[in-house]
Amino acid sequence: MSGAVTKGAAIYEGKAKTIYATSRPDLLIQYFKDDATAFNGKKKGIIQNKGICNNAISSHIFGLLEKEGVKTHFVSKLSHREMLVKKVEIIPIEVVMRNVVAGSLSTRMGIPEGEQIKEPVMELYYKSDPLGDPMINRYHIRAFNLATDEEVRFIEKESFRINKWLLSFFDKIGIRLVDYKLEYGRSPEGVLLADEISPDGCRLWDKATGEKMDKDRFRRDLGMLTEVYEEMTRRTLAAT
Ligand code: ADP
Ligand code: MG
Repeated sequence: MSGAVTKGAAIYEGKAKTIYATSRPDLLIQYFKDDATAFNGKKKGIIQNKGICNNAISSHIFGLLEKEGVKTHFVSKLSHREMLVKKVEIIPIEVVMRNVVAGSLSTRMGIPEGEQIKEPVMELYYKSDPLGDPMINRYHIRAFNLATDEEVRFIEKESFRINKWLLSFFDKIGIRLVDYKLEYGRSPEGVLLADEISPDGCRLWDKATGEKMDKDRFRRDLGMLTEVYEEMTRRTLAAT
């Protein structure tokens, strides 16, 4: 059925992806670009082949999560850079799951990067580029009508379930899943996991060497960007 879907106009130009309408009102195409940004868009660059890698990794992981009973927006991988997805109304909350201290959590708590957290920490941020994605909590969500209580309960429960599965998946491919960001959206089928799961939105450390295998290499000018994205693609696609 998805073979009959044709690409329409670009409806949203994001930092890492372009979203296209399709001949089906309920479906969109995510086109994965090589553009990389960091520090709220202040640092910009290109990571050759990143879009191809992120599409391959996200498609593979969404497919596996679906088999686990996680409802996602993923329909199919159309081409190297294109993913067919169910159209959702993005809930403007970025869910950050943390298993190891890194980044802003290290700064906020005064704990060095790399310290294992005794249980996963979930953080919520208001998805707003102009505001720089400020941290919020359930009270803000309720007061400013970002999501219903039922949606928040679902998102929290689902995120911990996804975290369990992702921890074990990345462990199998020799990766320590440090932290990552999830986005959810509303659809006629209910709340779906949306956007992408890729080295752009995850901190992934090689278990054996401690090497960073994610976008932190871009943020911190560590080089070997394409090599690392390609290595993560190779390992991800080899696992189930
Ligand atoms: P941004 O710069 O806003 O992060 P991206 O480059 O990540 O944008 O492009 C993807 C955009 O599309 C994001 O804003 C994301 O929230 C949104 N999006 C992801 N999946 C879907 C979907 N299934 N339906 C509608 N919008 C989506
Ligand atoms: Mg994005």
